[in-house]
Amino acid sequence: MLATAFTARSSKEPLVSIERSCPYCCSQIPREAKKCHACAEWVVGTSGGVAAATLWLLALGWAALTVLASAGLWSIGQGVMRWVWMHSVDPAITPQVVTLLLYAAIAAVLLKGLMVSVGLALLARLAPRRPRWWS
Ligand SMILES: [Zn+2]
Repeated sequence: MLATAFTARSSKEPLVSIERSCPYCCSQIPREAKKCHACAEWVVGTSGGVAAATLWLLALGWAALTVLASAGLWSIGQGVMRWVWMHSVDPAITPQVVTLLLYAAIAAVLLKGLMVSVGLALLARLAPRRPRWWS
């Protein structure tokens, strides 16, 4: 009886040493485990894969394009404003009206473009995480 208890404990010793505790829920998991069986968290580095990286790059590119388009609109607007100032086609179209329309257009482009960027970034975050194939 005593001997069996002793052998049971001594056979358990190496098991304890090859386990580690999960950094998220502190339960004991095998040292080689990639995912915790208790809380289902990855315990190794993960990535969303190529699709998520592509979506993320697309979101960044779209944000950059949006800022560039807004800057372009602003510089075009400056030219239009100068032309309106010089020619005064219609007394109702003052530089103030042009400025208002210009800022409304820039705000619309910025809002719409950044919303698309945020949407793409959110889609990239939705991609399921997998253990990285690099270290
Ligand atoms: Zn865990």
